[in-house]
This record gives sequence, structure tokens and C-alpha cells, in this order.
Amino acid sequence: MMDVQLTTQALLPRCLTLFPERPVTSLMVAGKNEAGQPTASRHRTTLGQVARRSAQLAGALQQLGVQPGDRVATLAVNSFYHLEAYLGIPSMGAVIHTLNIRLPIEQLVWILNDSGAKVLLLDSMFLPLLPAFRAQCPELKEVIVFSAQVPEGTHGYDDLISSQPETYAWPELDEKSGAMLCYTSGTTGNPKGVLYTHRSLMLHALASGHPDAFGIGQYDVVLPIVPMFHANAWGTVHTALLYGAGLAFTGVFNDGPSVARTLQDEKATMCAGVVTVMLALLEELDRAAAAGQPYDVSALNKIGCGGTAVPEVLIRALYERHGLQMMQAWGMTETSPLATCSNVPAGIDPVSDEGFAHRSKQGRVVPFIEVALLDDHGQPVTHDGATMGRLLVRGPWIAGEYYKRGVTSDFVELDGKKWLDTGDIATISASGEVWVQDRAKDLVKSGGEWISSAEVENALMAHPGVSAAVVVAVPHPKWTERPLALFIPHGDAPSPAELREYLKGHIAKWWIPDDFLAVSELPIGATGKFLKREIREQYKNHVWTDGGMK
Ligand code: ADP
Repeated sequence: MMDVQLTTQALLPRCLTLFPERPVTSLMVAGKNEAGQPTASRHRTTLGQVARRSAQLAGALQQLGVQPGDRVATLAVNSFYHLEAYLGIPSMGAVIHTLNIRLPIEQLVWILNDSGAKVLLLDSMFLPLLPAFRAQCPELKEVIVFSAQVPEGTHGYDDLISSQPETYAWPELDEKSGAMLCYTSGTTGNPKGVLYTHRSLMLHALASGHPDAFGIGQYDVVLPIVPMFHANAWGTVHTALLYGAGLAFTGVFNDGPSVARTLQDEKATMCAGVVTVMLALLEELDRAAAAGQPYDVSALNKIGCGGTAVPEVLIRALYERHGLQMMQAWGMTETSPLATCSNVPAGIDPVSDEGFAHRSKQGRVVPFIEVALLDDHGQPVTHDGATMGRLLVRGPWIAGEYYKRGVTSDFVELDGKKWLDTGDIATISASGEVWVQDRAKDLVKSGGEWISSAEVENALMAHPGVSAAVVVAVPHPKWTERPLALFIPHGDAPSPAELREYLKGHIAKWWIPDDFLAVSELPIGATGKFLKREIREQYKNHVWTDGGMK
């Protein structure tokens, strides 16, 4: 057979010739209302236009000195601009490095320096961060703003690309070369980069378009609520570009009403997002129905949800109250991310009790992905649906090492093969159904974003009134999890208000624990470490003061 390289360049002729008229809509910030809240306007374009502009972007970047292999960073929400960058940057041989807009500035600076990006493309709302980047990121040479009015020393995106031709001499690429770069929070130490190759992205897109996975094809309109800086928007964007699905982006407007209205207005057939946004969507659908003005979301035939375990009540409520079908997926930044999907085995009614029970699990692997379990002694665990073990995963779109760090202790060998240790604790049934039970990783996942408990503990322990501190994840009705701090006071216990105020200057605001409990002791294990899992278990029914973060 022919040795044809699988690269993002294959998306271009498909968008230009096969699906040029498929719609791409984006909610953009138009201004502010009287309450100071952003107002939206809807921008409309097509896949064909996006492909032409991505060639113009490649031309402009080349003129700015971008060479194959160079990293070009983005700091942006979901929009057609970000989509053009997704298509144009890797296709010219450079690497698009998507920065997580929710990270504190120190981490953004660290990550940008680690990747050594030469060029940064950003939404104008992030311009206030520019002085810090300029002062602390010596390799960053050019800044391009997704806006018409731009400050001195930066380029306006539309202006910059307008003088470029709509075609580009795309270079021949090796499918194993880097195409995208995304960093994930480490439990300790600095974030870790995952470099996706052209081949891994394209195989992942092929698989996620399959009907048993996200099932995205040319008749679809996909609304990825999941951000494009989060594990490639879970692959939904590449899959849409490959198969010709329309795209609807909601930008900064990810609240329940904006999402519900976009689903209705754009007749979206598929959307994907974390549990927190799906709870907000359900609430809005319920509210509108109760008010006698239900949304028409009848086109929506599949909702992909993941990031944390998806509660069965959510899957049921969406179906029973609104006729909507939700499918749970499991994955990580390191796994591109799609690894398992909770598609219901043939022969079982998906809306029976048995069907819902399957859908509340993480499900079975997509083609080419393998999973295994290891016990605490590094021995394989039987797949009997009951015995728990650390979940290992391998496959053509699973990272085999970290960017610049190589093969760390996150990778293990089993049966002579390399596997990624996910840090999740799971069971696997005899028929291959994965069920994530717990997390060995010491992190808190709030609204789909990681909070490093170690960093919050360090910041807290620097307070003179704290002699020891532990931060654990506790279930939260809105954010899925929020951090709870337990501390042993040094002298008079500082009040929660004092600790909250103190932390404000040291960590991101949304990382500040919702509650602070002074305790006289904390359980310690044999190796002298706090027994986090025991503490988490003990406080899992903690009732938040004032309901926690709003
Ligand atoms: P993502 O952006 O896909 O959430 P991350 O790398 O930030 O990727 O997080 C991956 C981790 O999130 C997994 O190792 C697991 O702990 C958790 N996770 C993701 N999906 C699920 C799921 N469906 N059920 C339980 N946990 C999940």
C-alpha cells in the first residue's frame, strides 16, 4: 500500500472542495451592557472561508519568520479565529501551542518559556497580560491580536493576513512531526507538555467520528463547549474539519442560556463539555420548560460529556425531561483525549435502567486503544469488574513521553510494552467496560479545571498561623469538586476570612479553598505522608458554608 502521511493538510482540500459551505458560527464579544457584562454578536463564516484564511495565516506567519517545527502559541477562547490557527499553523509545519486561559500568569509564563514559542496569537481580552509576557518570555518575538484595534507593537490578525494570498505552498510533512502542544497540570512540580503528532491527531479524528464514539459527520453541526485549549477540544474540531460538520462556537458565552440558545438557533446536532456546563444547560432547559417557553433543541442527537465522572442522574434527567442523549467519554490530555466511550452494548436498550447504568460508567475502548490494571505491587489485576487497580492505557494517540521531559515515571512497562499510568483507579469488566472509581492523583478538579492541591497547601503553610495543611477535593453540586483545607494551627487559629484574604495574593482566586477547618491532628501514613484518600473519604459529605463557590 502507498505510504501516505497522515497530516492536518488532508483537512484543507476537504474543507475547500467537499464541504466549503458548511457553517462556522462564533459568538463574539460586541460590547458591554449597563451592568458591565459582555454582550454577544454572532459571526458567520464557512469551512471553505476558514481554509482560505488559514492559508493566509500561514503566509503571514512565514513572513514573520516562523519555520517548520517552531511553536506558535494561542491564548484564546473558541472562535473561527482559533479554528483558522488550528488548521493553518500545523499545516505549515509549525506547532500550535494552546495555552489554558484559566491558568495564573506565573504558570502561563513558565509554560510559554518551556515551549519557547516565538509568536503568540491572542484574544484582545488577554492584552493586560502582555507586559508580563514581554518582560519574562525572551523568546516571544511577535504578538498577533484577534481584533481590529490593536496596541502598538502588536499585529492585528485581520490586517496581517489580508495582504496574503489565499493559497500557500504547504510543505511536505512527516506524519510523526509535532502538530499541537498542550500542557497538563502535574500533581507536583511544573505542568507537563504533551506533543501531539499529525498522525496521532488524524487517527484520533478518524476514530472519534465513528458512530460508536462521537459520531460526527457532514450532516452534523458541532458545538464544542469544551475549550479549544483543553486537549484539542476533545478532538471535536479536527473531526468536524475532517468529515465536514458545521461548527458553532460560544466563545466566552458558556452559560446555560447562551449555550441553549445557540443549540437552538444553529440547530446543533452534537455538543461536548464537562459536567459543570451540562448541569447549567439542564437547569436552563428546565427553567425555560417550566416557564412554558421551552427551547427547540430537537436537532441535538448526542451530547458528549466527561472530564470527571458523569452522574447518572444528569444523563437520566436530560433524557427523561428533554429527550436528549448523553454519552460519557473518558480521557486525558495525554490521550488526545478520547480513549473510552460509554456506548451501550448492542442488545441493551440505552434508555432502560441497565442502559443508564452502562452510560454512567466510562465505557469501552475506542479502536486501537488498550487498557490494563495494575495493583500496588505492579502486578496485573484481573478484569472481573470488581477488583480495582491503577488504570493503564496505550495506543497510537496516547503520549509515549512528555515534551522535553522524555519518559518519566508516569510510563510503565507491562508484558514488554510501554503503557501510560493514568493515575486513575478503576475496575474493568470481563467484557472490557472501564469504571473509574477513584483518583490516585492528588489534584482537585473544579468545573473541569485542575487545582494543584500541593500548591495551595504550600501557600497556606507559609501563613504564620498554620503549622500543617492538607487540601482535598470534596464533591460540590455546581463545580463537581471544590477544595477543602484542613489545617493544624500554630498558636491561635487564623479565621477562614483571614486565610482567604492571605491566599488572594498568592494563588489564583478560584483555587482558594471554599472552607478552612482547624483540626488538632491529621492522619499520617507509614511513609510520613498525610493520608489524603482517607481524609477525602472522611470529608466527602462536608457541607459547604454558604454552599461554597458560587
Ligand atoms: P480533560 O481535559 O479530558 O479533562 P485532563 O488531562 O485535564 O483531561 O484530565 C484527565 C483526567 O480527568 C483523567 O485522568 C480522570 O482523572 C479525569 N476524567 C476525565 N474523564 C473522566 C470520566 N469520564 N470519568 C471520570 N474521570 C474522568
